Amino acid sequence: MKKIKLFVLALVVLFLILTIIVLVRTYSLSKSTVTTSDASVDFIDIDKTAASINLAKAVRFKTVTEQVRDDTDWQEFEKFQAWMRETYPAFYDAVKTETIADHALYHTWEGSDPSLDPIVFMAHQDVVPASEDPNSGWEFPPFGGDIIDGFVYGRGTIDCKGTLIGLMEAANRLAASGYQPKRKLIFSFGHDEEISGSGAKTAAELMKSRGIKPYAVIDEGGAIITGLNGIEKPIAMIGVAEKGYLTLVLTAKARGGHSSTPPTYTAIGALSKAIAIIEANPFDSGMDKVTKKMLQAMATEQDFKTRMAMANLWLFRPMVEKKMKSQDQSRAMLGTTIAPTIIDAGFKENALPREAKAYVNFRLHSRDSVASVMDRVRRLIDDPNIEIVKADGIGSEPSPVSQIGTGPYTWIEDVITTTFPGLLVSPNVVLGGTDSRYMALVTNDIYRFAPYKFDTSDMARIHGLNERMDIDVFVKGIQTYYLMLEKAGEG
Ligand SMILES: [Zn+2]
Repeated sequence: MKKIKLFVLALVVLFLILTIIVLVRTYSLSKSTVTTSDASVDFIDIDKTAASINLAKAVRFKTVTEQVRDDTDWQEFEKFQAWMRETYPAFYDAVKTETIADHALYHTWEGSDPSLDPIVFMAHQDVVPASEDPNSGWEFPPFGGDIIDGFVYGRGTIDCKGTLIGLMEAANRLAASGYQPKRKLIFSFGHDEEISGSGAKTAAELMKSRGIKPYAVIDEGGAIITGLNGIEKPIAMIGVAEKGYLTLVLTAKARGGHSSTPPTYTAIGALSKAIAIIEANPFDSGMDKVTKKMLQAMATEQDFKTRMAMANLWLFRPMVEKKMKSQDQSRAMLGTTIAPTIIDAGFKENALPREAKAYVNFRLHSRDSVASVMDRVRRLIDDPNIEIVKADGIGSEPSPVSQIGTGPYTWIEDVITTTFPGLLVSPNVVLGGTDSRYMALVTNDIYRFAPYKFDTSDMARIHGLNERMDIDVFVKGIQTYYLMLEKAGEG
């Protein structure tokens, strides 16, 4: 009897200790991960109308890269570039401009102190196609550059001309003020981000050949998001890493012929089985360091239950991961994803095809690599009649993880917490791909972030219908870019 009492008492004490640990960790979470600042800052005056007209004009150049590269109208890019030179004369006087990979722009603004490694600002000139059919669902023509009710409408207003023109507006103003950077600033504007990124690749190779090792690279990919998971405060998502990218082409070969006497092994059957096996065997999955930091930063503004779980992952990790795996968006954060995207076989309803082909797209988590994914797929399929190759030119390793909380990260954090008081700052992993992935050739510190405030509905407009930029958001972004550039140049 005494023994049982002691045992119960021990259990109660243990439970109390655990509860105290859990609570202490829960309440200390906010202090350890959130960065906010109340410092005030002087913004430059921006002529709102002029700036928004420039964005609208930029949208009217149909710099669309087509899936079939040769269908692209490259003349439109030349016109766009001529317009940029005309519109931003102070900037073009201050920098040296090189055209690389045919249509990519590489601008160098020399710094007075050659011992400082440069900072690279990136954006891309091209946009994805948009239907100009009046019934396509666009409220205003996608290349019309209409300014309606405080918004500039059109393809590219966010992705990525919003970033490109915002940077140009700020840099032109800075150059016009007579500013001389101490640190070299490079502006690298690719021309084909949406189809391959050969412009950015060439820029990275050029830097390498010149011995340039950037202090930091800033590109699109992250922004200030409001309304995320019901969180009231805006959160600056700084993309410190991005997933890798790989498309595999599976080709199953078998005897063709009449469908009245089929063999037991058919091309379509074998291919289907192969896809099913890949899907049935998901990649290793689990929270990495960056995702953990992001969720913890968000949790500081969420309900007690979430805060408690995120502050005590030593106890609640399996529960949290299980919940994340139940949703497509969060599941993609945990591991390499598998997406069969194209299947192609057969030509006649009563004839067996000799070949069946499928494309499977993978987005690689940092724990995997192009080689390890290919290996795994080969092992799983284990069929000598199925050929497995990488789709032409498509494949990139997961990026390195940039510094968080030190180095260039704090430089970005300092600027944006003063320009957006009360802001939460969080690192994240970008699930899509950006041009900046090529910069891993010359630096580990790549940050995907543009100082624009979007809500979750804006995100759906990217590559979608009715893409638009809120003019007030745009102006604040230009003001922030101005300070970012000024601070970058200070060294
Ligand atoms: Zn983009």
